[in-house]
Amino acid sequence: MRAREAIAAAAARLPGDCPRLDAELLAAHLIGVDRSALLLRHLDDAIDAVAFAALVDRRMADEPVAYILGHREFWSLDFRVTPDTLIPRPDSETLVEAALAAAGPAPRVLDLGTGSGCLLLSVLHERPGGWGVGVDRSEAAARVARDNAARLGLAARAAFVVGDWTGAIGARFDLILANPPYVGTSETLDREVAGYEPRSALFAGPDGLDDYRRIIPALGALLTPAGSAHLEIGHAQADLVWEIAAAAGFTPALRRDLAGRPRCLSLRTAQDFGLGEAKRSG
Ligand code: GLN
Repeated sequence: MRAREAIAAAAARLPGDCPRLDAELLAAHLIGVDRSALLLRHLDDAIDAVAFAALVDRRMADEPVAYILGHREFWSLDFRVTPDTLIPRPDSETLVEAALAAAGPAPRVLDLGTGSGCLLLSVLHERPGGWGVGVDRSEAAARVARDNAARLGLAARAAFVVGDWTGAIGARFDLILANPPYVGTSETLDREVAGYEPRSALFAGPDGLDDYRRIIPALGALLTPAGSAHLEIGHAQADLVWEIAAAAGFTPALRRDLAGRPRCLSLRTAQDFGLGEAKRSG
């Protein structure tokens, strides 16, 4: 069977929002090329129908394409991902933008709950003078992040440690990034997410705010005087996390993702320096 027919047949069966894209990615993976090369030059290649059917079956069972392929693009960089790490979301690029807007040329960066390392490594990629530390509770995730640092040529500027949020850290940083778990334990997630991604990276107590309550009060001791922290939030959590941040003495600013939803709160200890919307979202 040619790749072209195999892709068309799979696209007609696959679940999710972008079955054609997923079928193309699976076929490209099997042929050993990237998607654009597949579309330009390999659509008439013969494809191993049995091996392709095995990949399609995994996707039919709602396994995320990123886990089947073992990697995912974020900030135009290629990150290895495993079931030990959350899959990087485009929404989280909002945090990279916020951090870069606040960063000098050589920032010291801390990434709490680093997972694949995508936030820290994207910022370091954009700031060749910077260095940073990623923390994760999962040893397996820290190994994936170290591997990503090496693959991206950033290993000399990025260290990864296993620890429980800020517990292992005794230095101050210009930038702190965190995409903590923020889903309420009784919320229902798509099977694609709930069935495959690490629960410890998703759920954070009944209201999803448990980890903000732990992280935010600890940030003051970890920031340089002009430093800032950039936290991902669920789109309906801006006001609630804002309250936690204000109670801890921070001046928050809100940034929205590409869909216009609240996605990142940037916190400073002193004045707001124009990091985002200075007023509450209402
Ligand atoms: N944005 C993720 C989702 O798909 C949640 C990630 C997180 O909890 N940090 O729900």
